[in-house]
Amino acid sequence: MDSSAPTLLLSLIAFVFGSMLGSFLNVCIVRLPKNESIVRLPSHCPSCKAQIPFYQNIPLVSYLFLRGRCRFCAERISPRYFFVELLMGILAVALLFRFGLSAAFFVNLVFVAALVVVSFIDLDVQIVPNVISLPGIGLGFLASVAQYPWPADSLSIPPSPLSSFIGILIGGGFLWLVARIYEFFTGTEGMGGGDVKLLAMIGAFLGWPSIPLTLFFASVSGSVIGVFLMVRAGACGKYAIPFGPFLCLGALFYLFLGRIVLQFYLPAG
Ligand SMILES: [Zn+2]
Repeated sequence: MDSSAPTLLLSLIAFVFGSMLGSFLNVCIVRLPKNESIVRLPSHCPSCKAQIPFYQNIPLVSYLFLRGRCRFCAERISPRYFFVELLMGILAVALLFRFGLSAAFFVNLVFVAALVVVSFIDLDVQIVPNVISLPGIGLGFLASVAQYPWPADSLSIPPSPLSSFIGILIGGGFLWLVARIYEFFTGTEGMGGGDVKLLAMIGAFLGWPSIPLTLFFASVSGSVIGVFLMVRAGACGKYAIPFGPFLCLGALFYLFLGRIVLQFYLPAG
C-alpha cells in the first residue's frame, strides 16, 4: 500500500459509518417486501414489537451486548442483523481502500448497499424488488454522467456514460434473451424479470465490461453452491435457488478485482 492509503482513523470512521448504514439496511430488508415505511416506524423487535430506544440500537455492539436476544421478550434476534452490519462495515473500509475518500467512494457505497439489500430480500422471499433495481439503473447512469470526465479507459469505475448506457442494454438484454430462449424450449419461466433488472443496474454502475465477468462469476459460484445444496438435501428434480445473490456476488468480485482479472487478459488495455 502506498502513502496515499487511508489512515487508521479514517478506516475506523468508514467502518462505523458502514455498520450504521448496515443497521438501516436491515430495516429495509425486513420492511421493503412488506411495503412498510422504512423511515416512519421506529425500530422495534420483530417478535414482541417493543420499541428499541436509539441508545440500544448501536450497530454490532447492541447485538453482542444482548447476546442476540430481545431485551423485552428474550426472543432470538436473527444473526442476519449482526452479519449485515459487519458486512457493510467491512465493505465500506474496502471501498475506502479502493477509491480513497472520493465521489466514487460514496457512489459505490450506495451501489454496494443496494446489492446487499437485494441479496437478502431475494434469499428471504425470492424477489428482486423493483423499488431498488429501477431507481438503481437511473442512479448508476446519472453517477457516470456526474463524474464525467474520468480517466479514459473502458475498465475504470465509475464508467463513462456510454459504457454505463451499453451496460444497461447488455445487462438487461442478455438475461432477457436467455429467459425468452429458456421459456421457448421448456415452456416454463426459469429466470425472473427481477434478475434482468438487477443485471441492468450492475451494468449501469460498473459499465459494460463488468457484465461478462459478473455473469461468469455468478454462474460458477451459483453452480458450486447449488450442487452442494442439492447433494446435501438429496433433492431430485427442481430445486429453486435465487440467482440474484450470486449476481450481486459477481458484481462485488468485479468491483474489487475485475480490473486485475481483465488486465491479465487484455494487457494492452
Ligand atoms: Zn421482543
